[in-house]
Amino acid sequence: MASLIFGVRLDELETVDQLRSVTTGFLDGDRTCRIFTPNPEILLRARSDAAYADVLRSADLALPDGTGVTLVQTLRDGRTVRRWPGVEIAAFLVRLAAERGETVAFVGGAPDVAERAAARWRTLPGLKVVVAGAGVEVDEDGSARHAEREDEMTDAIRSAAPAIVLVGLGAPKQERWITRHADAFPSVRVMIGVGGAFDMWAGSRRRAPRAFRTLGLEWLWRLALEPRRLPRIIRATVAFPVLAVFDRTDE
Ligand code: UDP
Repeated sequence: MASLIFGVRLDELETVDQLRSVTTGFLDGDRTCRIFTPNPEILLRARSDAAYADVLRSADLALPDGTGVTLVQTLRDGRTVRRWPGVEIAAFLVRLAAERGETVAFVGGAPDVAERAAARWRTLPGLKVVVAGAGVEVDEDGSARHAEREDEMTDAIRSAAPAIVLVGLGAPKQERWITRHADAFPSVRVMIGVGGAFDMWAGSRRRAPRAFRTLGLEWLWRLALEPRRLPRIIRATVAFPVLAVFDRTDE
């Protein structure tokens, strides 16, 4: 099943087994598949930016991230939908790569952050992790600010020949980076935007404790740690649900 918010399709998966079956299909396929996890901020941007909405619509799998999104689905469609934080899907994919003996590339994150995140995963037997493009500055359109960094990054990915690329550039840069590079790497079967996942794995940004996550209060935790995010959080928790519940473009 799938639903639409501001014209962006959101797929529904209920179980990790379903996630495994879809992503294994991607890895066994013969092209690069894109996974995005739209949250309220991403969907609000898509509402006023048609080109970005097109980028999101190009996803092979788009799963809802953020309590606001699943709340809107419940209020509008009357059913409960599972939320899939990008960092959890990313961790699932890294473990799947280890089982299959595949290589994963990390793109984005501050240099020491991406390296520390990679070092944590490298202890998994069977897994190879390469860090490509750590510390690279990417513009809003998804291109690297400095051409030589772009070449370094793409060369590093090509020579490592990964099956999976985790792109931690934050939205909207990561989705645009993925779209720009969708056909650039013959070995890659899955590219996914993972936001601040490297920061969490490196320990430089703490994920909300389980109780906050269960209650859908991850945003409150984030606010306590990073008060400058207040305007973004108000948009996500107040403006987004109101606009999305009463939106008529999806009918
Ligand atoms: N980032 C990057 N290059 C850029 C912009 C951001 O590598 O040009 C990285 C940043 O270091 C962080 C990640 O993107 O690790 C996510 O940034 P942000 O916190 O804005 O994303 P969110 O978690 O809110 O999606």
